[in-house]
Amino acid sequence: MGIVQQDGSRRATTALPSKSPLQARPEIAILGAGIGGLALAIGMIRRGVAVTIYEAAEEFSAVGAGIGFGPNALNSIDLLDPRFRQMYEAAATANERPEFEHSVFDALYAEEGFGEKRGWKRGLVGAPYFFRSSAHRKDLLQIMTELIPEGVVKFNKRAKSIHQSNNNVTIAFDDGQTITVDALIGCDGVKGATRGLVLGKTHPEQVAPTYCNMYIYRGIIPMKDCKEVLGQHAGDAKWFMRKDQGVAIYPIQKGAAENFVFFVNDHKGWTGPPVAIPRTKEEMREDLAGFDERLLKLLDWAQPLQWPTYHHPKTHTYFKGRICLLGDVAHATTPHQAAGASQGLEDAVVLSRLLAAVQNPDELDAAFRVYDRIRRPRAQRVAQTSYEAGVMYSWNDPNFGDDMQKIVDNANERLHWIWQHDLKGDADNAEAEFLQMTRGSEKSSTVVTVNGSGMKHKL
Ligand SMILES: Cc1cc2nc3c(=O)[nH]c(=O)nc-3n(C[C@H](O)[C@H](O)[C@H](O)COP(=O)(O)OP(=O)(O)OC[C@H]3O[C@@H](n4cnc5c(N)ncnc54)[C@H](O)[C@@H]3O)c2cc1C
Repeated sequence: MGIVQQDGSRRATTALPSKSPLQARPEIAILGAGIGGLALAIGMIRRGVAVTIYEAAEEFSAVGAGIGFGPNALNSIDLLDPRFRQMYEAAATANERPEFEHSVFDALYAEEGFGEKRGWKRGLVGAPYFFRSSAHRKDLLQIMTELIPEGVVKFNKRAKSIHQSNNNVTIAFDDGQTITVDALIGCDGVKGATRGLVLGKTHPEQVAPTYCNMYIYRGIIPMKDCKEVLGQHAGDAKWFMRKDQGVAIYPIQKGAAENFVFFVNDHKGWTGPPVAIPRTKEEMREDLAGFDERLLKLLDWAQPLQWPTYHHPKTHTYFKGRICLLGDVAHATTPHQAAGASQGLEDAVVLSRLLAAVQNPDELDAAFRVYDRIRRPRAQRVAQTSYEAGVMYSWNDPNFGDDMQKIVDNANERLHWIWQHDLKGDADNAEAEFLQMTRGSEKSSTVVTVNGSGMKHKL
């Protein structure tokens, strides 16, 4: 099979051997080359499944921001491709001081003095098995790209219309090309169009992303400047909190820079279009009046933008027919548990395993059904609890108010189920369930993988 080009010819999609026994498998396209789409492609390619990614942008987005990975994210990248983990570790950044090695953040007050006047010194959130690990998104995307053969990602391909019939999906791009595939995996982000195709008819109220009643300001500051500004508080992950506002900082780029994100609760609601709007430094400072002056100094390095944040707290299903959702388009979350991208990675582990077991297009329905059953409850719970964490960290949860010790204690309880999840168990169960549905057997299929040298081997 191949993608149908405008001239009616068919084109092979990835670097599979020309006489591969896998050729009877369905033709699958991914829409969107963010962390979710790339992760799925890495998992599929490693298992010998052909795929092409269509991405609207001209090139990979190098938006200046960091990303933190918890143990479940690291577990996911291990399962997608062991080389991914090695390459990530080489680029990842830990907290600088040994006493913060196991903390996802140290909670402090955002007010003048960071809480010292109240006698508050430290509020570690973490676990003995947790190792702080973050990366620059640009580095992460670079690593992921290196794991995908050249030509698999097609840039400048913005889908302008997607049409599903019983047995296939036709996508028209704004450059005039049209393709028809057996299935489309929508990895097109929180505002992605594929969400409407899956939910529009049955749950129209769930299609549009929900404003989190929160916007952010963010930036990256060179570590030497950060040390001048924050002194001993630079170099490690910290969360400075106050009523309705906060700022999270953490080191990236092997300690050469510090990433920061200011969170601001917005009780008025976002009335404009769902895009970032320009803000001057003075406007940001005014908005954040009441922070310790050292934190406000970080704004000298902030992007001059106010970003509204959106999530998908409810998603009734992750698939309809031959269109299936993965990543933020399915379950975008607020960033308060630093777990949004990790859910896309987990999706990719389970879905790539299932798609590797699919032998013909008729089996796609079973694969998507199992994926939805296994992944949706967990990913939606992450979205829901991340929102709750944001309410608590901004001192709006009546159970905790501004009691920092109670907030830290709760934070220390709430992340284990995310971090310690048995993802391999999920993937094993998914495959067994799929085989039971399609072939009446729980026996694991023989999965052919393609290693770095292009050699095929069995798992
Ligand atoms: C401030 C902030 C901090 C965060 N911190 C963390 C963290 O520490 N840890 C963590 O795990 N997560 C974090 N997240 C969440 C994480 O960033 C997201 O979950 C993740 O990046 C989503 O990846 P994605 O691939 O699903 O979507 P996206 O990254 O949005 O990618 C979607 C892609 O689809 C393309 N696209 C869209 N429409 C079309 C179309 N019509 N045709 C073709 N292409 C299209 C887009 O160009 C884009 O490249 C954070 C989020 C925010 C906002």
